[in-house]
Amino acid sequence: TSTQTNIAAEKVIQYTGTELNTKGWQQEAALRMLMNNLHPDVAEHPDKLVVYGGIGKAARNWESFDAIVRSLKELENDETLLVQSGKPVVVFKTHENAPRVLIANSNIVPAYANWDTFHELDKKGLMMYGQMTAGSWIYIGSQGIVQGTYETFAELANQHFGGSLKGTITLTAGLGGMGGAQPLAVTMAGGVCIGIDVDETRIDRRIETRYTDVKTDSLDEAIRIAEEAKAEGKALSIGLVGNAADLLPEMLSRGFIPEVLTDQTSAHDPLNGYVPSKMSMEDAAKLRESDPEEYVRLSKKAMAQHVAAMVEMMDKGAITFDYGNNIRQVAKDEGVERAFDFPGFVPAYIRPQFCEGKGPFRWVALSGDPEDIRKTDEVILREFSYNKHLCNWIKMAQEKIQFQGLPSRICWLGYGERARFGKIINDMVASGELSAPIVIGRDHLDSGSVASPNRETESMKDGSDVVSDWPILNAMINAVGGATWVSLHHGGGVGMGYSQHSGVVIVADGTKEAEARLERVLTTDPGMGVVRHADAGYDIAIQTAKEKGIKIPMLEG
Ligand code: NAD
Repeated sequence: TSTQTNIAAEKVIQYTGTELNTKGWQQEAALRMLMNNLHPDVAEHPDKLVVYGGIGKAARNWESFDAIVRSLKELENDETLLVQSGKPVVVFKTHENAPRVLIANSNIVPAYANWDTFHELDKKGLMMYGQMTAGSWIYIGSQGIVQGTYETFAELANQHFGGSLKGTITLTAGLGGMGGAQPLAVTMAGGVCIGIDVDETRIDRRIETRYTDVKTDSLDEAIRIAEEAKAEGKALSIGLVGNAADLLPEMLSRGFIPEVLTDQTSAHDPLNGYVPSKMSMEDAAKLRESDPEEYVRLSKKAMAQHVAAMVEMMDKGAITFDYGNNIRQVAKDEGVERAFDFPGFVPAYIRPQFCEGKGPFRWVALSGDPEDIRKTDEVILREFSYNKHLCNWIKMAQEKIQFQGLPSRICWLGYGERARFGKIINDMVASGELSAPIVIGRDHLDSGSVASPNRETESMKDGSDVVSDWPILNAMINAVGGATWVSLHHGGGVGMGYSQHSGVVIVADGTKEAEARLERVLTTDPGMGVVRHADAGYDIAIQTAKEKGIKIPMLEG
């Protein structure tokens, strides 16, 4: 409502420039990134503190938000603030090289780790859902996922279509905070995209930010425009207003089969993230309030219908993959036996990169000045010129990506590269080439920071899909190394009970101390990715570990 919106407008202040509102750049970075997560151009529902991904929040409630802001403003350079599911709980005296903030979000003892327990705790005000980068304050808008999405579609094009999606149609659903990156990534790879979303306002937002080209609420028109563009070999994205659970079966009955098929509705959260079949947004909102159990029942049933249609399209030739929202699991639980017949995107397209410690590395200009990001782009083009794919990405990003909130950039860098880049950025801050410090972080969806058996760790070579010691070790070693803030979450991406993961953010403020911290953290963090995959027996990871001299006690040879 408008009154709620006013709360966000009043409380969320995007600080920029070189003047501190806190006692140091580390605290300042946390403050500015918290504000950035909730910036109206960045967050999906700032009025509800929701950043993205269903109900992924940045703080538990507005009182907690105020207390976090107050604590960060008062925090000394040798103190650490602890945040429990979006509520600040204590400030301890630690030391200068310790993290300024430690965050734990949505963690529930394993035997109880399901949505029912979560909702009960949430209702009592004892917990919030942190998703991945929402509760760990390093969300940068849809850009955060664009390169990963582009990497996925580019690899798919390599494997199936000779390197380009030109002349193909990709069908997907869910044009929300993350899913909204799909149409842009598909057109970047040369293809045509039909992106279904039941909420028209989401499609409008993608059009405003140029992630989607055109909008229609007619299935026939969407198919016609898509087929025309496909025939002409044109890249084009179409936002189609409607419910995927209803439209996919419709498409099948019309004989329409896309070349590529996936889905990024918020199926991980049946209550808040998915709209049941044949239901308007208004009716959905009402039922969600009046009878949540019935809502969840209908929502899961619609997901089963949706996945059954995906399997049928796959049988008829569509290259089909799960895009990390756990929709296969729900459908399987609902009796769709073949739900797991199509693979997840990580084993299908991404894992080789994880083996080299590569993943969605990102940085943000705390100054608020886009010029700072332009200068760091130049560094990538100069220092990593051997990587044509990466340089191509940076040029495309410069041309096509509109910043949301603080200017930022993302690119997939691996072990060795991240530490090298971190030092360069710190030097640029020290010399004054950049106008203010830069904050460096990553998604929790990364090579060594997540255990998620239906997503990042699906089908591991040694069967260790459900082992979650790795993200915990990752968080601990990054904290020891002196990251600026470290977080440990449960349930991100795929929902309660299905994942544990950690986040890391570190500030390059141009000091020598920061240089040492960056060197440590930007080595251990991607290092955990190499080690995790080497331990599971992946050759690329074993070779990377050997080449880079990572000391793995029990690695053969
Ligand atoms: P979001 O909640 O912002 O958006 C979800 C969208 O799905 C909304 O726009 C909603 O209107 C739409 N939707 C819901 N039910 C629908 C239906 N039946 N038919 C059509 N549209 C429907 O979420 P998000 O941040 O975009 O994330 C989407 C999902 O993808 C989440 O499950 C998230 O965990 C997962 N995810 C995957 C990756 C990845 O790289 N694979 C990354 C981030 C998030």
